[in-house]
Order: sequence, then C-alpha cells, then structure tokens
Amino acid sequence: MIPKLSHLLPSSSPLNPLWDWLNPPTTSHYQQWQQQFLKVRLQLALWIALGFILSIIALNSIRFWQLEEPLWDHQLWTQVAIVLSLLTSLHLLPLASRNSHLNILFLLFSWSLTLLPLVSHTLNPLFEINFSGLIIAFFTQATLISVRWRLHLLTQGVTIGFYALFHSLDNQVFVFSALDSSFQVPLLLTLFWVCLICNFSVYLYERLQQSEFKSRRQLEIAYQELEKAERQYRSIFENAIEGIFQSSPDGYYLSVNPSLARIYGYDSPKELIDTLTDISQIYIDPNRRQEFMELIHDRGQVIGFESQIYRRDRQKIWICENARVITNDRGEIIAYEGTVEDVTRRKILEEEMRKNWEREKELSQLKSRFISMASHEFRTPLTSILASAEALEHYQDQWDVSKRLKYLKRIQMTVNHLNFLLSNILIIGKSESNLIMVNPHKINLEDFCRNLIEEMKSNLSPKHDLKFLNQGTDQPREVYLDESLLRQILENLLSNAIKYSPQGGEIRFMIEYNAHKVCFQIQDSGIGILEEDREYLFQSFHRGKNVDNLPGTGLGLAIVKKAVDIQQGQITVESLPGKGSLFSVTLPLYH
Ligand code: ADP
Repeated sequence: MIPKLSHLLPSSSPLNPLWDWLNPPTTSHYQQWQQQFLKVRLQLALWIALGFILSIIALNSIRFWQLEEPLWDHQLWTQVAIVLSLLTSLHLLPLASRNSHLNILFLLFSWSLTLLPLVSHTLNPLFEINFSGLIIAFFTQATLISVRWRLHLLTQGVTIGFYALFHSLDNQVFVFSALDSSFQVPLLLTLFWVCLICNFSVYLYERLQQSEFKSRRQLEIAYQELEKAERQYRSIFENAIEGIFQSSPDGYYLSVNPSLARIYGYDSPKELIDTLTDISQIYIDPNRRQEFMELIHDRGQVIGFESQIYRRDRQKIWICENARVITNDRGEIIAYEGTVEDVTRRKILEEEMRKNWEREKELSQLKSRFISMASHEFRTPLTSILASAEALEHYQDQWDVSKRLKYLKRIQMTVNHLNFLLSNILIIGKSESNLIMVNPHKINLEDFCRNLIEEMKSNLSPKHDLKFLNQGTDQPREVYLDESLLRQILENLLSNAIKYSPQGGEIRFMIEYNAHKVCFQIQDSGIGILEEDREYLFQSFHRGKNVDNLPGTGLGLAIVKKAVDIQQGQITVESLPGKGSLFSVTLPLYH
C-alpha cells in the first residue's frame, strides 16, 4: 500500500497544513462519490497521456531512423521517464483506495507531464520542450481531472514557479543554459491563464455539482424511506393472520391479501379476485351483503359484522368483518376496505356453550319438576296403600275373606303402579345420560301383543273395551325387536289411552307388519289433546291442560319418544279434543 504522505512528514512540518487542505476528509456521501469519480477519470487521463507520449516516442523514433538525428536530441529519455511514471501510476491506481493515495498519484501524473520536460530542458537546453505535450497535459488535467481543483492549482503553481524561477535567473546563477528564445513565454503564460480560468470554472462547477448531488441524495434517501415504508406495509399486508381487502361498491374485490384467499379457500389472492366477481354470492343468507352495505353507508364503518359464508369448496364457515368506506375528494364512496377474521371455531364453541347452558337449565328444571311430580304422584298411592293396610288391620276380624282379598288386591295394584312409575323414572334417567341400548331378540309379535293386552285388561274398568286387531296378512311369525323397549312404548301408550278415556269406550290396538317394519296404532275416544299442547307432548314432565285431576307424571310420552328414536322409528299423533286420539308408532325390524 502507498503510505500517506502526511505520515511521512514530521508533525510540525509546514507542509502538513497544505496537505490537510489538499485532503479534505472524505466522510460525506458526496466526497466518497467524488473519490470514485476521480479514480475513474484519473485512469482515463493516464491512458490518454500514455497513448500520447507513446505516439510522440514513435514519431521521434521515425525521425531518428529517417533523418539520422541523434536520439537524445529528441528528449527521448524524458519521454521514457514520463512513460515509466505513467505506468507506475496506472499500476498503483487499483491499489489506491484512500483519498491521499489518489492525490499522490495525481501529483505523480501531473508533474511527470509538466515538470519533467521543464526540468530536463533546464538541465539540458538541447532537450526541446514539446509544447503539444504540455497542452495535452494541461487540458487533460483541466477537463478530465476536474474534481481536484486544489491539486490542479498546486501542480500548475509549482510548474509556473519553476518556470519563473529559472527564467528570471536567466542563466545568471546556474551553469545551465536557461530557457532559450524559442521558448515562447507568452504562449506558456496564456496556457496557464486558460488553465487558471478552467480551474475557477471547475471550482464553480464542483459547487454546483455538490448541491445537485445533495438534492439527488436527499431524493434518493426519501425514495429509500418510501420503499422501506412500502416494504413494511406490504409485509404487514402479506403476512397478516387476518384477511385484508379492498372492495368496490359494485361488489367485487380490488385487492386482497393471502390470508383472505386462504380463509375463502383459494390458492392465491389473484385467483380469488378473478373468480369471485360477486361478493354477495358467498353469504349463506343472501340479505347479508345488503345489510352490510346499508350499515356501512349509514355509519361509514362496520365493526364486528358476523356472517356465515360458503368457502370455495362449499364448506360453511363463520367470518367477522370490520370495514370502512373510502371516499374521494367530493365525498363519494369509491371503495370499502377492512379485515375479515375466520371465527368458526369461536362460533362452534359458543354454540356448544349455549347448548350446555340450555341443557344445564333443562336439567335443573327437570329436577324441580321431578321433585314436585314425585311428591304428588308418590304420595297418593302411598296414602292409598297406608289406608288399605290400616283398614285391614282394624277390620280383619269383621270382614269376610272376599273383602279382605279386595283390599289386598288394591294394595298390590297400587304397588304395581308405583313400580311402573319408578321404572319410568329410571328409564328417563338412563335416557338423559344416553345409557339406553337397543338389544333385539327374536319375538313372536302376535303372542307378545296378546299377552300385553291380557296384562292391561286386569287394570281395566268395566266401562272400557280393549280390542286387539292384527291387520296384516302373510306376516312372518317371528321378528327381531327389543322386547323391553317395545313394552315401554306400548304399555305407556295403552295406559294413556285408558287413563285419558275416563268416560270409558272402545280402545283399539292395531298392528300391521311385514319383513321390514312394524306399525302399531292405539286409538281411543277419550278427552283428546289440545292444539296448544301438541308441541310439548314429548317433553319430560309436560302434562296437557285438559287433564284435570287425572293422575300422571308427564314422563310416559317422553319415554315413548326416546324408545322410538333410539330404534330409528317414528311416532305420530292425530287427535281431536273431546273426540279421542290416535298414536301411530313405526319401527324398522332387525334381521
Ligand atoms: P302423563 O300421562 O303421565 O301425564 P304422558 O307423557 O304419558 O304423561 O302424557 C303427556 C300428556 O299427553 C298427558 O298429560 C296428556 O295431556 C297427553 N296425552 C297422552 N296420551 C293421551 C291420550 N291418549 N289422550 C289424551 N291426551 C293424552
């Protein structure tokens, strides 16, 4: 590396301030740029000068061969020295990265062109000063190396000083024959004058260039800031978890981010924009887009607007939109912009929580209704049992056998009824906890129904007429059904038909079945069911408004419904208040 000249000078040297003046610190962007600029120009100037000097050498060589003039007359050694100096400068140029190194090279270059011929002419007047060489040197420096006006001034100052010194001495001090008359002083001075003007122009030009560079630099910085901000915003837009959009009032997307494309099930924002040309199509409720538009036009913004939409694959999801209007200078709406969030998971959780809460509520209601039902429904039969037992205790000696048997029978019937109530409660408890299982067995349906009728008849009052009708022909003798569930269904429906026909009358129990399904129908001509009760008929503990004092728990039909549903069957009711009811149950048969 080339050592910095100022380091070679003693710190107290008078040259130090001069050197500092020549080497302003290259801290600013402009100076660094200028440094680079100088390097390129210096290289160009070196090559031009080298080419020029080589051509002069070639001319001299021709003269030497043709005119056989002595070679040294043509200052060949000076020119060779210049060439060597230029070649050294060219070699050092790529290594010169610092300001001072470039300046040294500049001085080397400059003095090799200007001082060397002058010095050689001074030493030996036979060596002619080649004016064309000097002209080229001056102009090369003045125009190509314009960014170093201080250095340029120095080199010219030294050259003029040298010239002035030796010219004024005019061979009085030195033995050398000084500049001869052929040295055209006015021309040389004119050249220096031109160069001085050049220097001044270059100085002004540099000031101009500096201010232009500053503004360009400011513009560049502003542009870089803009680019940085744009990159930041683009990164937020591209990487946001929420969908971001701009849409037109006509109902299509102007721009969307990758998240929105993902939420809507598209591969890319472009695909979404190209495919979805009418935003209202995505809403499951077609009025939703209209509501969105009305809200945003009224308030200028929409916050937390939740809707169910179709994704591209027709999957339904929930989204939550926040949006605002974009207006032009005249206040006209030109677009909407906002965010979209996929809130499906939250919605599912909310729905689950709502269901759980409703179930909790239902269970607590069930509990209180059960307590009130149990206190009422159990007390009556228990009181009846107690009364019958006390009567038997007191009057057993006075009553004959048949009367005692009658009271014992009453106790048995009441206990059976309590048993029926308890089994209903147990089943409803099981069904609430989804513990009921279907367990089909081979049964003879006709025999099963006839046995059930016989059991029911033992509780029947003489006012009732219970009829069994098997309407099918060509039916299989045995089918697969869950006997226990079937008993729950039929017992409850038959006992209801008997209970809700207090005035008596015919009760028809009809069955019809084939290899695939069986249909049971139980018809009575009792009090019937009011319209207002139909909706709640199968809910636990619900009792009709027209039941008066007829006892009941409100559990029978709930159990029937559960037992039918679990076997994938169906139950329907037809009823006319005051005329009677018809319950139909259809069950599929297992194989
Ligand atoms: P419960 O009979 O113990 O009240 P259920 O669940 O069996 O409870 O019946 C619910 C309600 O349906 C009854 O309270 C009654 O109002 C009505 N209901 C059921 N079966 C009949 C029927 N055959 N005739 C008239 N009403 C009926």
